[in-house]
Amino acid sequence: MAVQQNKVSKSRRNNRRAHDSLTAANPNECSNCGELKRPHHICASCGHYDEKEIVALSEEIDLEDDAA
Ligand SMILES: [Zn+2]
Repeated sequence: MAVQQNKVSKSRRNNRRAHDSLTAANPNECSNCGELKRPHHICASCGHYDEKEIVALSEEIDLEDDAA
């Protein structure tokens, strides 16, 4: 096991941790469905970006017809 050579003071430890804080997410409202989404990403709930459909969601495809 590695053993530290010198004790890290509270000041040095806290200075190191000064940059460790997390930043809050900044969600935008989807212009198509109104759901909150990440900026510059397609909407996870409707698959639209910039009012165009980019990804067709799987719930629109009827899987039971293929299985029969
Ligand atoms: Zn949406």
